[in-house]
Parts: sequence; structure tokens; C-alpha cells
Amino acid sequence: MSKKNHVFKAEIQQVLDLVIHSLYSKKEIFLRELISNASDAIDRAQYLGLTDKSVTADAPQWKIDIIADKDNKTLMICDNGMGMSEEEMDKNLGVIASSGTKAFTEALKQKQEVNVPELIGQFGVGFYSAFMVAEEVTVISLKRGEGQKAVRWTSTGNGTYSLEDAARDKPGTTIALKLREGMDEFFDTWRIRELVKKYSNFIAYPIRFGEKGEAPKDDAEALNTMKALWKRSKSDVKQEEYDEFYTHISHDHQAPLKVVPIAAEGQIEFKALLFIPKSAGMDLFMPNNKHGLSLYVRNVFIGADFDLLLPEYLRFVKGVVDSSDLPLNVSREMLQDDAVIRKIKSNITGKILSTLAEMQKDAPADYNTFFTGFGRILKEGLHFDYENTDKLKGLVLFHSAKRENNGFISLKEYVAAMPEAQKEIYYLISDDLQTAKQSPHIEVVSQYGYDILFLTDPVDAYIIDRLSDYEGKKLVPLDKGHLELGSDEEKSVAKRKLEDAATEFKALTEVLKEQLKEEISEVRFSPRLTDSACCLVAPEHAMNASMERMMRAMNQEVPKQLRILELNPSHELIKKMNTMVAANGADPVLKDYADLLLGQALLGEGNPPKDPQRFTRLVTNLMTRG
Ligand code: ADP
Repeated sequence: MSKKNHVFKAEIQQVLDLVIHSLYSKKEIFLRELISNASDAIDRAQYLGLTDKSVTADAPQWKIDIIADKDNKTLMICDNGMGMSEEEMDKNLGVIASSGTKAFTEALKQKQEVNVPELIGQFGVGFYSAFMVAEEVTVISLKRGEGQKAVRWTSTGNGTYSLEDAARDKPGTTIALKLREGMDEFFDTWRIRELVKKYSNFIAYPIRFGEKGEAPKDDAEALNTMKALWKRSKSDVKQEEYDEFYTHISHDHQAPLKVVPIAAEGQIEFKALLFIPKSAGMDLFMPNNKHGLSLYVRNVFIGADFDLLLPEYLRFVKGVVDSSDLPLNVSREMLQDDAVIRKIKSNITGKILSTLAEMQKDAPADYNTFFTGFGRILKEGLHFDYENTDKLKGLVLFHSAKRENNGFISLKEYVAAMPEAQKEIYYLISDDLQTAKQSPHIEVVSQYGYDILFLTDPVDAYIIDRLSDYEGKKLVPLDKGHLELGSDEEKSVAKRKLEDAATEFKALTEVLKEQLKEEISEVRFSPRLTDSACCLVAPEHAMNASMERMMRAMNQEVPKQLRILELNPSHELIKKMNTMVAANGADPVLKDYADLLLGQALLGEGNPPKDPQRFTRLVTNLMTRG
């Protein structure tokens, strides 16, 4: 092949500039990124070698060498991993998925305050961090397997790179960095040792250092410890080691909220080291977010992001699983319905849920932190994990009418605080707390001194069916069906009052029913209102209003279901309208009043009136007249 010049795709140039200029404060992380890439390449070779002997025909001793050549201002990172073909170099070092690039640029723009370099590894741009310290990067690679040719990739990070034939007899990759002025620290043994310890201590292959352009001897001491922490018993491991390992696998710059080591014995045996992060990384809510645990089988790294080991709703958990009960030459497809994998998954799920339950009991502040970050995701479990419904019911938290400062309450706490007369758990689904707190639906219930759960997460509308009861107490929505409160005596008084109202205001309800027949199915008198004139409620088994809104937002067809208009018989407005009807039931202004009433009810629950322009016009007329 003759030497060819290529232009980086436009977005790459942007990323390069960002990496080089914005990440300057912590340039040392380039070493971590390049070592991680080398380690990944060895993982891949080792894994492919299990099924294709030609890949490991040279019986390699896996290794990563760092070689400093101060005289030539060059630092090299060499591995004997999988290597890359010309085509792979072109693809891997010249293109980044544009979504990744975009997410990365956005992240940089928004997260000025955080330690940006820590994020870099999450976006598949690690390789480019080399340009922070190097004015020129050369990659020479020979791919493992038969019939491969060595290739050289060179770039100064200024918009172009070149590809040409190269000479290299052993498979693997060498990244040679021509260091910029002022980067001499990276030639020093002590500095490299410090960085390897800091960032790459848990890399599973020996990382060795050689000076004066010479490769280290195979028996030279490795800079990293290569400790498989998950194999050691908990009492032998210091918290710092756990934290360090967590940073290594997660790229999260905060310490984990909770470390969960598992040593399962008996029916199936495996070891796992899991972590619950403190807060949700920005990647967690991105589409195509990679999640899952790293899987090792008898010390061989099989792959990262094994989502088969965790239910989707625990996707925030990070860590590794090591099993000796699985065959070495496993593939994702084979694992899909593997009985061992299913057992590991169920064991891990149980352990995480019980850890969370303990945290909730013994360290409520930590649990609050956890729930603030991941509660939304955990709740999905109620919809999908039937087996663990009871445990999940114990773990979910909600805002409530009585909890101050927008704090959370569990179902258990709610039930414990219920006055004796209260028999059911009341809740209201709403888009936001502000709307919920001012909703007409909660008026009477609040007056009774009962607390109300506010379900304001979008997922709440989905999970509520699974939450039908807790400790024998039914969960009752306040914007649906009939509502009966208090003692039997109070109930019958209330019932009589509503029946009397129905008789007294019969003419009014007839007029409203006629005027609003397109919008509502029924007009009746409400047991829930004290201050407001009216509200809308759904029939007992209907879909709730937020669910309806959500379906519309997702462009799904929502079956037209008419709701019930409930009136407050003690309200001045209702009395006034009743007088108007008595005077002249055919008064055309009654149509306007009916529409205004309905508009109010919609606004009260956080929905716009059906025809906002008409609503505004009617209010204006009314004010002008008034
Ligand atoms: P990421 O590692 O997150 O995918 P990078 O920009 O660091 O992103 O690397 C891009 C790709 O280049 C890698 O996914 C890998 O395919 C390839 N690559 C990088 N370094 C090596 C290496 N030492 N050996 C083999 N392939 C490599």
C-alpha cells in the first residue's frame, strides 16, 4: 500500500479540539485510556483464542509494556493483544459514532463543574486523549490470525491521518507518542508507576516499564497488582481498595454508595463484587446506554456489559461476576437461556434488594440519596419483576401531602402514621408536586387529617396496578370512582347530604349535562371538595389522566373516555348557577358558565381547558361585566 492521507470526519475534529483544549487540566489520564485499550485488546484476543486456535498460535504471555525514550521524546504503550487490520484502524481511529460525539460535546458544555476527564472513557473517545500530551501519535499494529499485514497510522491531530504499510513481526499494537514540550514528567519511572497505581492497578495483565527505548524484561516487576478483589474475602479488603476498583470499572469519580460482595456457595457457586453508585451518571438515561456486569469465567474475562446478569431495573449496579459453573467458550447467545445464568441473576437480584432494604432501615440518609438517583429506575421492577413485588413495595418511596420539604415516605411509614379511622391508602397521580398539592381532589381527605401519596414520576402511572394494596390496605386513587371517608355514621351523613344536593340542584345538573354532553358522561355531587367548585373524576376502572397524557405524548391513540364532573354543593358558584337555572333554564349565558366550569376543573388537575382561546374570552367578558 502506498501512503494515503485521510481527512477525519468533521465531528472527530471537534472532539479532538475539545479533548486537546478543554481537558488540559488532567492530561495524565491519557495513560489510563491507552492502557485500558491495550487491556481490552488482550481480553478480546484471549476470548477469541478460546474458539480459534490460530489467534493464539504464538502462545502469548499477555503483557502491556510502557517504554520511555527520552532522547527521542517518545513514549510507547505496547500490547500483544488482538491488533487491528488496516480497515479496523481506519474505522476505529478515524470515526466515532456521531451520537457518542454529540453526547460528549453536550456533556462537556453542561458539566463544566465536574471533573470532566473522568467522563471521557464513557464516550469511546479515550484514544484521542493521547493528543493532550502528544504532538504526533503513531500506531503500529499487526492483527492476530493468519495472513495479516502490519499497518502504521499517524496523525498530529490537526484534521488528517495517514495509513501505510509497516514492519512488525509479533502481533499486537504499539502506540508511540511524540510528547509535546513540557511533558517530560511522563518519561520518569516514578511518575509512570504512580499513574499506573492510581488508574490501572486492577488491569489483569502485567504492566511493566522500560527506559531508554528498551522493552522491559519479561521478569521485570509489574507496576500493577493485578488483584482480583472479588476473590478475596471481605475482611481482607480495605475500603480504599474497593473504592479504587470501583473507579477503575465505572469511571465514576465519586466513591460508591455501597459495596456488595457476594460469595455464593451451594447449588451454584460464583463470586461477585457489586457496587451501588451514589448518583446516576449522565449516561444512564441515554438511549443505547451500555450497562450490565463484567463476566469472568475461571479468571478469563468473557465480556463487559452483560445485561443478562441483572434485571433491567437494576441497571445502575456496576461490578463483576466470576463463575466457574459456566463453560469457557460461552457466547452471549448461548447464555441467553442458560440455567446457571438465570440462577446467578436471581441470586444477585435478591442480594441487591436485601442490601437496599437494610440500607433503608439502618442508613436512611444513604437510602434517600440512593432513591433520589435511582428510584425511578427501581420502580420499573414493580412492573416487570412479579416475583419480587413484595420486596419492591417495601423499597419504593413517594412524595406526600404531609412530608415536608418534598421529602419521601415509604408505604410502611404511611401505614404506620394512619389515624385509626383511616382504612385505605390515598394517592393522586399527577405530573408534578406543585399541581398535586393544589389539586381539588385532595381537599376533603386532607381535612380528615389523612396523608396522600403523590405519584409524580412518569413511571408511576404504569406501576400503580401492581401496587394495588399494602399490608392489607387498599391503595385508592383520589381522582377516580366514588370516595367514602370516616366512620359508618359519617359516611351515611355524607351520603345523605349528596342525595339532598342531587334533589335540590336537579335542574342545574340537567342543564350542565346537556351543555357538556360532548365532554362528560355524568354530573354528580362530590364528597371530595371543600374549597373548589368542581373537579373531574374518572369512572372506577378508567385510565388515569396522567396515563392519558403520557399516551398522547407518545403518539398513541387514546380511547375517548368521558369523565364525570363533580360539583361542590356548598360552593357559592354552584348555588348562584342553580338560581340562574331556576330563573331561566334557557339563558344562553349558561352555556358559557358551563364551559368555564369545565375549564376550571381541567386547570385544577394540571390540564389545559379544551379551547383555551374561548376560555380566555369568556373570562375576559366576565371580568369586563363584573
Ligand atoms: P473505546 O475504547 O471507548 O471504544 P477509543 O477511542 O479509546 O474508544 O478506541 C477506539 C477503538 O480503537 C477501540 O474500540 C478499539 O477497537 C481500537 N483500539 C484502540 N486501541 C487499541 C489497541 N491497543 N489494540 C487494538 N485495538 C485498539
